[in-house]
Amino acid sequence: MNIQSIGIVGAGQMGNGIAHVCALAGYDVTLHDISREALDNAMQLIRRNLERQIARERITPDARDAALARIRTTTNLAEVGPADLIIEAATERETVKDAIFEDLRPHLGTDTILTSNTSSISITRLASKTDRPERFMGFHFMNPVPVMQLVELIRGIATSQETYDACLSVVKRLGKTAASAEDFPGFIVNRILMPMINEAVYTLYEGVGSVTSIDESMRLGANHPMGPLELADFIGLDTCLAIMNVLHDGLADTKYRPCPLLTKYVEAGWLGRKTQRGFYDYRGETPVPTR
Ligand code: NAD
Repeated sequence: MNIQSIGIVGAGQMGNGIAHVCALAGYDVTLHDISREALDNAMQLIRRNLERQIARERITPDARDAALARIRTTTNLAEVGPADLIIEAATERETVKDAIFEDLRPHLGTDTILTSNTSSISITRLASKTDRPERFMGFHFMNPVPVMQLVELIRGIATSQETYDACLSVVKRLGKTAASAEDFPGFIVNRILMPMINEAVYTLYEGVGSVTSIDESMRLGANHPMGPLELADFIGLDTCLAIMNVLHDGLADTKYRPCPLLTKYVEAGWLGRKTQRGFYDYRGETPVPTR
């Protein structure tokens, strides 16, 4: 299977980054969203991020122009169907994803490979409701996509080796590195990362350390580039809580129970950077710990 064209469904935070790296690697990209505004914002962001890469001398202005010329945007899902590979990156809700794959079905090419960028939904279950579970897998990029080197490739129970190999060749052409993960809650990165973040919140909850001392300890004592609470604010506390719930429900082990303090922050609407308040308050010049 030689992938030339890529359809991306959902032009949010992840979708625009995926379109950016795919177009830069020479793929013809069709970027779809139900919202015209999301598509316009995505194109603006892609342009801005390409400019940043030019400023850092990572790409040339010609490469920017060629990449932009390879991206087509549409609110008509049917136009995505014929692509060789489709990467679904819409809102993290199973009913939304199921409906997208259902609506795509009559428009798909015979050999089109379907993938999802989901962080937490079972690939096997999503695949089972399509007409091609053997040509379905998880294609999990990290945020921000143009910067992060890793892509997790997740096989569902029915995923064929051919499908896996085709997706692996795309990851390589993007200049990224693939980690192969089996289809269990959280895959690899979130299975390890989220319990660490959750434990940092427990450490705060139990008064073992303050926000500052916990983040400083992990930065200076474990050589992490960011403290766990800073990182949680960056990811979004609602996202962290949702993933902990998926681990807790899916693995039925109390070691994954979300910290009540994490739940409390989410209840307060203090979701991290996106709402300007989480473990830090971002409303002033410099972030101030909220506990
Ligand atoms: P987002 O909210 O920024 O964007 C989602 C986009 O999907 C929106 O533009 C919305 O208009 C669009 N959308 C909703 N319903 C749609 C439909 N029926 N058809 C087409 N588009 C539709 O979300 P995001 O952070 O980009 O996350 C997208 C996916 O990527 C999720 O599955 C998430 O779990 C996964 N993911 C997110 C991150 C992250 O750090 N944000 C990291 C890895 C994976």
